Amino acid sequence: MSFLQGIAASSGIAIAKAYRLVEPDLSFEKTRITDEEQEIKRLKDAIAITKTELEAIREKANAELGADKAAIFEAHLLIANDPELITPIEDKIKTDKVNAEHALKEATDMFISMFEQMDNEYMKERAADIRDVRKRMLSHLLGVKIINPSMISEEAIIVAEDLTPSDTAQLNRKYVKAFTTNIGGRTSHSAIMARSMEIPAVVGTKTATKDIQNGDIIIVDGLKGEVHINPNQEIIEKYKQEQIRFEEQKAEWAKLLHEKTVSADGEHVELAANIGTPNDLEGVINNGGEGIGLYRTEFLYMGRNELPSEEEQFESYKAVLEGMQGKPVVVRTLDIGGDKELPYLDLPKEMNPFLGFRAIRLCLEEQGIFRTQLRALLRASSFGNLKIMFPMIANLDEFRAAKNILQEEKQKLISEGITVSDQIELGIMVEIPSTAVMADLFAKEVDFFSIGTNDLIQYTMAADRMNERVSYLYQPYSPAILRLVKMVIDAAHKEGKWAGMCGEMAGDETAIPLLLGLGLDEFSMSATSILKARSQILRLSKKEMEELAQKALQMSTTNEVIEAVKAAAEK
Ligand code: PEP
Ligand code: MG
Repeated sequence: MSFLQGIAASSGIAIAKAYRLVEPDLSFEKTRITDEEQEIKRLKDAIAITKTELEAIREKANAELGADKAAIFEAHLLIANDPELITPIEDKIKTDKVNAEHALKEATDMFISMFEQMDNEYMKERAADIRDVRKRMLSHLLGVKIINPSMISEEAIIVAEDLTPSDTAQLNRKYVKAFTTNIGGRTSHSAIMARSMEIPAVVGTKTATKDIQNGDIIIVDGLKGEVHINPNQEIIEKYKQEQIRFEEQKAEWAKLLHEKTVSADGEHVELAANIGTPNDLEGVINNGGEGIGLYRTEFLYMGRNELPSEEEQFESYKAVLEGMQGKPVVVRTLDIGGDKELPYLDLPKEMNPFLGFRAIRLCLEEQGIFRTQLRALLRASSFGNLKIMFPMIANLDEFRAAKNILQEEKQKLISEGITVSDQIELGIMVEIPSTAVMADLFAKEVDFFSIGTNDLIQYTMAADRMNERVSYLYQPYSPAILRLVKMVIDAAHKEGKWAGMCGEMAGDETAIPLLLGLGLDEFSMSATSILKARSQILRLSKKEMEELAQKALQMSTTNEVIEAVKAAAEK
């Protein structure tokens, strides 16, 4: 029985067996063999098991995650069946008299470097596929199990060093009851996704993969950020009671499903949801979202081998707009980079990916990708209440350049006879301090702001949002952050524009009173936080919160702000 303290990343409590998602050791020695026939048989057996395994994964992915996710495994099967790849491995075993592992590595290395050197993006992606299939074959030759998160078929809690957003997207919520990781923070994208999938998560435990073995019974307490390993019966019982209490609390909040979000003194604010895919719509409706304040479109581009086509994107955007039945839907254009990678774009590795070639920077350079997305959005605009925003805008030149491209695509579509709404509002995310500082000038040109505090905090405090060791600096209630937020809201209002927030701060219990007092118009958060936030705002007086916020802006430390909010709540 032991215990780990991490960061509470997604609320709820889960009790289940641990399932470790760690990289297997696939190292081997080159050896000389005497019986080539026997070695070729070993190779053929490994290939046969690989194929059966890939077929099973493909079927399961198809049934549970959709055809687009299953397509990767289809491509892998083609490779495992390709004689042009397999024959050279057999030839190597025969002529060089080496073990199958070594022959496999040498022969596939040749193909991988050949594909990687090609100019064509599509061919470059094939190199990554060959690597994946090779890893699977090697694991069977060595008798080492490799992990397929999509193959989990009993209730489990995932234990990993870290989960990438695309790993997280592959988790099947029917079986995956929670996850816990060594690294990460509350605004890592895997944490954000856990909240939208409604699975409890504790990140930043530092040692979960060291301390937890496969099959250990663990409790993940996503409310307090605790993980219990092989707890005794008494602790299990205590947590079962907590689970019941949590469900009862949720049932209370659910009574507010159809209520408007109005403060105790009658001021309305909008509570919207952040989503990653059209599948998240159900959660938005079930949690009483008054709109979508952030559609992170980059998830459409992940977990696959190539860019999504205009048609595919159009269908996704249309589904979301129609699903929201005229309520506002703010779609953010592609925000790739940082912890969200697209391996098939084959971008060079950077020293500081969060400060690098990402989001709008990439879109302005790789205009083909950007224009395809904008066309899909503009075509979908006639199916609902679309608002478009650009991510990571650092200066007005970027905004103007992106807006021009949007206008060009709009004109092209209109001249092709395609209907495009003329009511599309155009806004920006305020995630970079330079933009918050220049908000007065931006406000003259944009229709709205959405404050992206997940990044704004990390860039203002120079504290990586993924790094649990500097999480003490990564504080939404810091007076410095509050002052920037105030500048943005005031600048918007001065020009008659609206200001929203789609960073995780918007759904934070301690931040909500301050944001209400600062005059925020729209709060966009994980769908699962909406009802709780509504119940909180119904009890708050906006006028009193304005006074609280004014005081907080003059405070010198984060702790003073937290104490003041607590004191106000207890009054
Ligand atoms: C943000 O930075 O606050 C934001 C909402 O964007 P993301 O979390 O996707 O970086
Ligand atoms: Mg961001």
